[in-house]
Amino acid sequence: MTAFAYRDGHYFAEDVSLRRIADACGTPFYCYSRAAVEARYDAYVEALKDFDALICYAVKANSHQAIIKLLADRGAGADVVSEGELRRALAAGVPAAKIVYSGVAKTVREIEFALQQNIRQFNVESEPELEEISAAAVRLDKTARVSFRINPDVDAGTHEKISTGKSENKFGVPLESASYAYEKAVGLPGIEVCGIDLHIGSQITSLTPFAHAFARVAELAEKLRKDGLTISTIDLGGGLGVNYDEKNDHAPSPAEYVGVVRDTLGHLDCNFIVEPGRSLVGNAGVLVGSVIYVKKSGQSTFLIIDAAMNDFLRPSMYDSYHAIVGERDSGAKNVMYDIVGPVCETGDTFARQREMPAQESGDLIVIEGAGAYGSVMASSYNTRPLVPEVLVDGDEFRIIRKRPSYDSIIGLDLDWESA
Ligand SMILES: *Cc1c(COP(=O)(O)O)cnc(C)c1O
Repeated sequence: MTAFAYRDGHYFAEDVSLRRIADACGTPFYCYSRAAVEARYDAYVEALKDFDALICYAVKANSHQAIIKLLADRGAGADVVSEGELRRALAAGVPAAKIVYSGVAKTVREIEFALQQNIRQFNVESEPELEEISAAAVRLDKTARVSFRINPDVDAGTHEKISTGKSENKFGVPLESASYAYEKAVGLPGIEVCGIDLHIGSQITSLTPFAHAFARVAELAEKLRKDGLTISTIDLGGGLGVNYDEKNDHAPSPAEYVGVVRDTLGHLDCNFIVEPGRSLVGNAGVLVGSVIYVKKSGQSTFLIIDAAMNDFLRPSMYDSYHAIVGERDSGAKNVMYDIVGPVCETGDTFARQREMPAQESGDLIVIEGAGAYGSVMASSYNTRPLVPEVLVDGDEFRIIRKRPSYDSIIGLDLDWESA
């Protein structure tokens, strides 16, 4: 299913033309397709149907309440990495019993809040963190269900800033210290060991790193069980990539991914948690801006649009490729553009040397694959207001977050006298 496509020469999100939305809320804006999110979620459900599995949406990919809610309504749990995300998941109606708490270093305050909510499990990343969880559980008279996040030391073959499963990364407990960590956990009050967790990185487009990591986890699970531990749940993390570039990316489907799970871990007869983020929402959203000016400078022709790096950080942060198209499939002669925003940084570049039909001031420009790690990473650098978010469902759309006013942004600052 393609939720975003040209029809009769105009670009549509489901059955709503982007021009209609732009007329209602101005540009730039994020636009999400409900059908696209649900189709990806359903693909995971179908792939996992032979297993006792819980799909915990990794909220950090896109934490808008409406997105979490539509997944929760379909039965999804949530994977959170902060108290704020935990509160968002609860507010959107995810039952605490379906929420797992991941994250490199949870503070005492965050641990206590999560214990009070009776969340499903903590994915623990270090021994000091385990000790804090135990102490907090005793104080609050609770039992914390814990898994250790194991760092399996595999190369996910992804961008270095989103690779997390190598031994030099800050994440998790090294495989060789795992037995010791589990032994320690068993002896601590307020702690109930329930399984093993891992998450090796993001935008992974090959099954090989998953296969290697899962095989190491299978070996560890067998060893821990021999030592008498209960390993009933394996949390596989997220990380499955999406096709940002239809021509060159070949991300595996959820079904192919689950095939690897079956081959490497199926014999353990345990239940599974998966934590997909990007692969649920990445291609279910676009960022829409409009052309401010077309500027010729030396050899280059710059398409300067009103969306910028503060709205969508991925291209400048990760050098990520995103397909970029015009609102009209105009048939105009192709031009080679550098597509940039107006922010005072050279890094404010969405694409270099992209060939597309000639554009004019006011034309809408669509940056595809912006549903994950888009709005959540936005800032108001250059005092540019956070951009509105829009959800499309069939031939209807709603503005699910408004553009803040300049007064409300400036009003957050207190001067010395009023502070
Ligand atoms: C970021 C993250 C995810 C989601 O990763 P995606 O690549 O978006 O699927 C899942 N689990 C943990 C622990 C994470 O940090």
